[in-house]
Amino acid sequence: MSTLLEVSGVSKTFDGFKAINNLSFQIGAQELRAVIGPNGAGKTTFMDIVTGKTRPDEGRVIYGDKSVSLLKMSESAIAQAGIGRKFQRPTVFEDQSVFDNLMMALRNKRGPVAALFYRLTDADRARIETLAADIGLAAALPRKAGELSHGQKQWLEIGMLLAQEPKLLLVDEPAAGMTPAEREHTTDLLKEAAKTRAVVVVEHDMEFVRRLDCKVTVLHEGSVLAEGSLDHVTKNQDVIDVYLGR
Ligand code: ADP
Repeated sequence: MSTLLEVSGVSKTFDGFKAINNLSFQIGAQELRAVIGPNGAGKTTFMDIVTGKTRPDEGRVIYGDKSVSLLKMSESAIAQAGIGRKFQRPTVFEDQSVFDNLMMALRNKRGPVAALFYRLTDADRARIETLAADIGLAAALPRKAGELSHGQKQWLEIGMLLAQEPKLLLVDEPAAGMTPAEREHTTDLLKEAAKTRAVVVVEHDMEFVRRLDCKVTVLHEGSVLAEGSLDHVTKNQDVIDVYLGR
């Protein structure tokens, strides 16, 4: 599998505190990866660095087949280059329909100027219907997003991100607050999404991580503590010590 993102030797200090400490991390072009770690491990800062929200003090962040440095790009250029991020809370337009939410995401993909002159085409209508089916909201297309359940809103937002055809999708705690059935659907959705792109999921819920059935990276004090299958990392004594607070 070719490497899509390569973070190497990255460090970031906030007020003398090393939130990220010589972090090296790679993800393949069509890989699903779970990132776990106790609070303060650096998971959010890692995502902030990849998306250009935070600049590291040192290290390299190389992306894509042309091996460009993300550190030279603005936050919006990084998003345009195909890195999408889903924050923990769903941010959908509550008073708009599911259809319109997905349409706005498609429209925005074309950039600010083209978006101004946007007209819905038959091809886009078909794309919206396919996306809605992919996220399990085909029957909800006419409904207002504000009427959806928490889980459905999360799927809608994932659909809106998928509409932008990211090459790398970063997803923060997607299962938080979901029912068991919603979690199961979310696992399927993320696995499916990772067939055509890289997906990095930051998650605390170990049962959810188990269902994702993918390679796991354990972060601790801003570095990779362990990497491998969930069974492998949960047998690692360093990981056990960190989770037990020893
Ligand atoms: P996680 O997401 O794994 O809980 P974070 O990346 O949020 O960890 O935080 C890592 C450490 O860096 C924490 O100790 C946090 O307090 C600190 N930190 C993160 N962002 C800032 C900031 N903007 N200013 C100061 N400290 C920060």
